[in-house]
Amino acid sequence: MSQPLRLRKNADRRLKAGHLWIYSNEVDTRATPLKAFQPGDLARVEAANGRALGVACVNPGSLICARIMSRDPAMQVDRSLFVHRFKQALALRQQLYDTPFYRLVNAEGDLLPGLVIDRFGDVAVVQLNTAGMQAQSEAVVEALEKVLKPAAIVFRNDTGGRRQEGLDARVEVVAGTLPDEVLIEENGVRFAAPVLDGQKTGWFFNHRDNRRWLNRHVAGKRVLDLFSYVGGFGVQAAASGASEVLCVDSSATALEGVARNAELNGLHEQVAVGEGDAFEALAALKADGEQFDVVVLDPPAFINKRKDQAGGEHAYGKLNREAMRLLGRDGMLLSSSSSMHLAPERLVNVVRGALRHQDRQGQVIFQGHQAADHPIHPAIPETAYLKALGVRVFRD
Ligand code: SAH
Repeated sequence: MSQPLRLRKNADRRLKAGHLWIYSNEVDTRATPLKAFQPGDLARVEAANGRALGVACVNPGSLICARIMSRDPAMQVDRSLFVHRFKQALALRQQLYDTPFYRLVNAEGDLLPGLVIDRFGDVAVVQLNTAGMQAQSEAVVEALEKVLKPAAIVFRNDTGGRRQEGLDARVEVVAGTLPDEVLIEENGVRFAAPVLDGQKTGWFFNHRDNRRWLNRHVAGKRVLDLFSYVGGFGVQAAASGASEVLCVDSSATALEGVARNAELNGLHEQVAVGEGDAFEALAALKADGEQFDVVVLDPPAFINKRKDQAGGEHAYGKLNREAMRLLGRDGMLLSSSSSMHLAPERLVNVVRGALRHQDRQGQVIFQGHQAADHPIHPAIPETAYLKALGVRVFRD
C-alpha cells in the first residue's frame, strides 16, 4: 500500500471537477510532509476528511507535486494499467486513421500524466516528462511491447518539461533497432522524420488537419512556409500543386530534412529552402520585392509563461504584420500559435491588428486546432494549446 498524501481543506475541489494535478501548496504537509516522498513515488491521495481520491505519482520538488494516475485508490500502477491505457488510446487512433502514424499517447489527454508517445509505423518515440513517468519507464516499455510490438522504441528524454522536474536529458534507443530512415505518410505525402535529432519526437502530428485544410488552397500558388521545420506544411503544399514553395527555418538540419522530404515525393524542383531567422527573412523578402499567394506561420510558442504574455503577443503581432505585407492582392494566411496562454480570440485579435496595420480586409475562413490524436482533457486547459486561423486577405 502506498503512502498517503493528505490534501488541505477544500483542495480536493479541482480533483473533484476532474483535474489530475495537485499543487504543492494544496498538500497538508503537517499530516503528510512532501519530504517523505522520493521523486516518482506513488501516493494514495486523500481529501482533508480522509476520503481516498485516487493514486498519484509524486515529485516533491515540483510545483505540480502530484499527478493522478487513477481515480481508483486501489489501482495498482504497473504494466497492466499501462497496457489498459495504451489499448484505449490505440482504439481511438485506429478509429481515426487508416495509417499507423500518429500521437498514440497524449499525456494527461489520455489519462497518462507526463507521458507522450508518437507512433511512426513500427517505431515508437517516447517522452517521459515527469519523475512519476520516469519511475515507470520499465512498465511503459513492457506495455508498449505487448500492445504495439514495435521494431524499435526510442526515448526522446530531452524535453524542457524534464528539466523542470529535475530529470536529466537523454536520447536513446531502448529496444530493437532503428531503421536508417523513419518514414511516415501524412495526408498522402511521404516524409522522413528525424526521430533522434529532430525537434520534439521528430514530427509534429498536431497540425495534420490544418495542413490538410491548407492543401486545398495552394494549387498553382506561390507559398512561403515560415518556421518550416522539415516541411510539414511546405512539402505537402507542393504535393498539392503549389507552383513554388519556399521553406524558411533557422535550423540547417531541419532544412536538410525539407530537401529530403521534397525529394521523397519527387518535388525537389518546386521546393526551395532559406536558412535564417524568420523575422529577418521577412524583411529581406520584402526588400527584394517578393510576393506570395499563401504564407504559413507556425512559430515556436512565444508565450510560455504568464509573464511573457505582453511580449509574446507583440511578437505574434509583428510576425503576422510582416507576413501580411508579402501577400499579393488576394492572398491566404495560415497563422498558428502553440501557446496555451494565447487564447483563441487573442489570435483573432493578432490577425485583426495586422490587417488594420496593413489596411487590408480579411476573412477568417478556417479555425483549426490540434488533431484528434491530441485529445484535450476537459478539466485541464493546458491540454488545449494549438490554434490555426485560415485568413483570406484582400483589398476592398
Ligand atoms: N511548421 C513545422 C513545425 C515548426 S516547429 C511543421 O509543420 O512541422 C518550429 C520551427 O521553428 C523549428 O523547426 C525551429 O527550428 C524553427 N525556429 C525557431 N525559431 C526560429 C526563428 N527565429 N526563425 C526561423 N525559424 C525558427
